[in-house]
Amino acid sequence: MPNTRHFADVTTAATLEQQRVLWREHARLIDWQTPFGEVLEYGAGARLPPPFARWFVGGTTNLCHNAVDRHLKDRGNQVALIWESTEVERTETWTYAELHREVVRAAAGMRELGVQRGDRVLIYMPMIPEAVFAMLACARIGAIHSVVFGGFASVSLARRIDDARPRLIVSADAGSRGGKVIEYKPLLDHAIELAVAEARPAHVLLVNRGLAPMKTMPGRDVHWAELRSRHLDSAAPVEWLESNEPSYILYTSGTTGKPKGVQRDVGGYAVALAASMRHIYDCRPGETYFCTSDIGWVVGHSYIVYGPLINGMTTILYEGTPLRPDPGIFWQLVAKHRPVAMFSSPTAIRTLKRYDQSLIRRHDLSSLRALWLAGEPLDEPTARWAGEWLGCPIRDNYWQTETGWPIMATPAGANPHYGSAGQPVFGYDVRLVNEENGEPLDNAGDFNHKGVVAIAPPLPPGCLQTVWDDDERFVRTYFHSIPGKLLYSTFDWGTRDADGYWYILGRFDDVINVAGHRLGTREIEESICSHAAVAECAVVGVHDEIKGQVAVAFAVLRNPDGIKDAAMRMELEGAVMRQVHDQLGAVARPARVHFVTGLPKTRSGKVLRRAIQAICERRDPGDLTTIDDPGPLEQVQQAHLG
Ligand code: ATP
Ligand code: MG
Repeated sequence: MPNTRHFADVTTAATLEQQRVLWREHARLIDWQTPFGEVLEYGAGARLPPPFARWFVGGTTNLCHNAVDRHLKDRGNQVALIWESTEVERTETWTYAELHREVVRAAAGMRELGVQRGDRVLIYMPMIPEAVFAMLACARIGAIHSVVFGGFASVSLARRIDDARPRLIVSADAGSRGGKVIEYKPLLDHAIELAVAEARPAHVLLVNRGLAPMKTMPGRDVHWAELRSRHLDSAAPVEWLESNEPSYILYTSGTTGKPKGVQRDVGGYAVALAASMRHIYDCRPGETYFCTSDIGWVVGHSYIVYGPLINGMTTILYEGTPLRPDPGIFWQLVAKHRPVAMFSSPTAIRTLKRYDQSLIRRHDLSSLRALWLAGEPLDEPTARWAGEWLGCPIRDNYWQTETGWPIMATPAGANPHYGSAGQPVFGYDVRLVNEENGEPLDNAGDFNHKGVVAIAPPLPPGCLQTVWDDDERFVRTYFHSIPGKLLYSTFDWGTRDADGYWYILGRFDDVINVAGHRLGTREIEESICSHAAVAECAVVGVHDEIKGQVAVAFAVLRNPDGIKDAAMRMELEGAVMRQVHDQLGAVARPARVHFVTGLPKTRSGKVLRRAIQAICERRDPGDLTTIDDPGPLEQVQQAHLG
């Protein structure tokens, strides 16, 4: 029987019966208003056919109650939320009691605006505390929030309005990025115009930060401060929701195509997050957690807002970039607030590699027990570099918007296997399978056995219940892509070693096939990144008449000014190619290594390989609504096609 105390003892539960025992135990980590009956309803006799699963059936609970109200008695005076903004130079804190008051005011205000249980509320906001209040207020009254990353422009926003059909949109006059004011209101107004008429909201609730002038539409637009002042003492009781009612919708990053609207439940999510805070991240109530993501991403939902608060911790909301006022800002904040764990992305850490490392050493980082990284493969050179400079373990964890919490992680206390995302986490029946027939690849430890990373249903608590408003797409997209077997496909390509540690080698669609040899993009990228001159790189397979495909690399140098002329560039290109040849063999040797100053990435920091590949093959790059900056894609075109 699985023991729930230690990560290593609670990896993948083998049978449904063991799953039930495991999750019944974890369910004690949260408050239930009415107890659940069946832990898991799945398969024969269930209301819905597989792969649909229902967790904690009949139990009623509430995310806001678990994140806020239940801590009032013991932690009312403990700081719940720290807001740090290097954009507007402000630091503010809220205790659990203060957070509770703000959330109740926001909830009462939303009620006044007609928001009911089950209604959608779209949150399009910068990283300000009102965004957190709004999320928790929705959860409190049973409204379904859909947070849209504040960096998206009108078209991306309009599509999400069309899909979610919100009754209310919560927004602000402006955000700020790198010291530059970005007006939200005109983008929002334009998006509402672009949206189909039936999807337009009845009201828009606006925080006025005083950063940009705002034109408001009488009758539709409401000011946060005015609404709040009408509800200073209002009550807004918690709405008790059945565990399987939807809590929120969140769109995937759109790295591989059109974003998918992930729908999450209430009870399963709360339990999974509570279990992950204890048993994966190894954090205790009263401690501080610092996650550098954005509330617009799943990492922000789970580990800025809900996870740390459900676990009674202090959470840090950071508005700013990793580079301002200097590239030591993350570490300055660690020294100031003393978090026990930090959560960031490989992209953010690789960016820091380009700057003076004494900026790290200057700060006291002794509070940190670990730095957790997720979002993209964490290459070994970056992991070693960060570990050396930070003096704490660097722990990879692998998951998706769909899953809401890690599928794989390196257990706290275990020695990380560099380059590995860790071991499957408790509750996930992870399988390495042949993508053509779903047959398991059992030769653990033989790195030549690579396959699709799949999960056997039922998915554990906290994972997506369905695609919003599209059950058919949910089943077809995720469960029918591996022929012959009902398996959830992660669409990632991986392998594992003899100790049970897994390696994510990149997106299945990005696998490069050179003269019959299949290589994950990550394998070549990692080899290139281990060259001392390289900060980060992207590799794609480009069609080739003779070999089928060849690898083409785009590398960003740690010191771009170090290359003075074409001769130096060619010499370095040759050296990088030789290194790949020596480490991985002739098949992996890239046909070209182009040096660029940046890589095309999504707003969530993921390399857009499919777009790079399309450009190199002179095809249409497809949906680019989630791209961060089109500049690097133009550079790719310039470099490769000339
Ligand atoms: P879309 O599904 O719309 O194409 P996306 O897959 O980038 O976008 P996310 O849910 O934000 O959307 O990202 C999940 C993906 O990120 C994973 O499937 C995997 O490819 C990658 N990923 C996340 N964490 C890791 C990790 N630790 N190691 C390797 N890859 C990771
Ligand atoms: Mg995905």
